[in-house]
Amino acid sequence: MGKFHSHIGKVICVDERLNTEKAQVQLRDFLETRGIGRAGALASRAGSVLELAQDEVPKGDFSLYQGIKGAMIDLHHVTTLVITMHTDCGRQGGRAAFNGDAEADKEAQRVYLRRVAKRLHEWFPSVTHVVPVLIHIADTNAAEPDLEFELVKETV
Ligand SMILES: [Zn+2]
Repeated sequence: MGKFHSHIGKVICVDERLNTEKAQVQLRDFLETRGIGRAGALASRAGSVLELAQDEVPKGDFSLYQGIKGAMIDLHHVTTLVITMHTDCGRQGGRAAFNGDAEADKEAQRVYLRRVAKRLHEWFPSVTHVVPVLIHIADTNAAEPDLEFELVKETV
């Protein structure tokens, strides 16, 4: 079991397939083998960090931007931010939005993650580590699918 680190924050989609006990353990193990401890501050959001990837990023009271700034950084002094995006995300219309093309779906999530990682560094210089994780759901019909995790490089 990893140590609990309140200075690590994580943003994840509310999709129930990512929030089973099994899925949470898998993600935690994935991060721990890469030297990243258990997140102490968590933001659960439909679409995860998708709104931070938009051209016009919402920064109002209930925005994710304010959630990260207020609860994670100002309150918990988060310095490591794990950001996740997953394939077959309902917020984006699922795999159908990519005409069933899993690779296109994955690549779209990588692009979002890179864009958001870059912005987070610009907005919040006190966050020294941004960890972009792509969670791939290969079997979109399974209630508890096996998840594949990929640490996305911030630059290509
Ligand atoms: Zn989702």
